[in-house]
Amino acid sequence: MKVHILLGPPGCGKGTQAKRLVEKRSLIHLSTGDILRDAVSKGTEVGLRAKALMASGKLVDDSTVNGIVFARLQDETGDVLFDGYPRTLFQAESLQTFLSAQGIALGYVMDIEVPWQELEARVVNRRVCSNNACGAIYNLNSKPPKVEGICDLCGGSLKHRADDTSEAFQSRMVEFNKTFQPLQAFYQGMPHYRSVDGSRPPEQIHDQLVQLFQEQA
Ligand SMILES: [Zn+2]
Repeated sequence: MKVHILLGPPGCGKGTQAKRLVEKRSLIHLSTGDILRDAVSKGTEVGLRAKALMASGKLVDDSTVNGIVFARLQDETGDVLFDGYPRTLFQAESLQTFLSAQGIALGYVMDIEVPWQELEARVVNRRVCSNNACGAIYNLNSKPPKVEGICDLCGGSLKHRADDTSEAFQSRMVEFNKTFQPLQAFYQGMPHYRSVDGSRPPEQIHDQLVQLFQEQA
């Protein structure tokens, strides 16, 4: 059993890459959201703690997240791909301690790097279908609708979300990097850390990741 990790900022496309990679390789995709929801629905001790925190509008703390993730890892026997975990240096260090204690190897850490300007362009050019039942997402550069301002799928009007401005993006990224940079530095010292150029089309990124797994970490 091995544990692989996808790293990267919001909007880098790691969720999409994770989904495609697990289809291609026999990996178990563990995203933090899914693991949390699963633990809450099973009513485990840590799950109940997470549920209480979320119900009171609080973030689930690192120790609770770790507890849920470690419990889940003990249920798995196949290779795992994490997407969205670890999120902090503390989570990463705790995971490493856990893996060493369990004799589980850390496989690839794939860090999808996209220049800020490009991430910003993706955010600023994003348009979302205002029909909630549809929710299709467009990009004026890379995936424009056929008719300006109209959703291809349902004919709903497209809106520019208030969070999708340059200013909102910059402040989110400054916050994100405070936590991300120490996490990234921790993994850059690992033998199977790989920086992946995330500014390329998703297809090319996918091919690179698949190729990486053919080399076997
Ligand atoms: Zn629509």
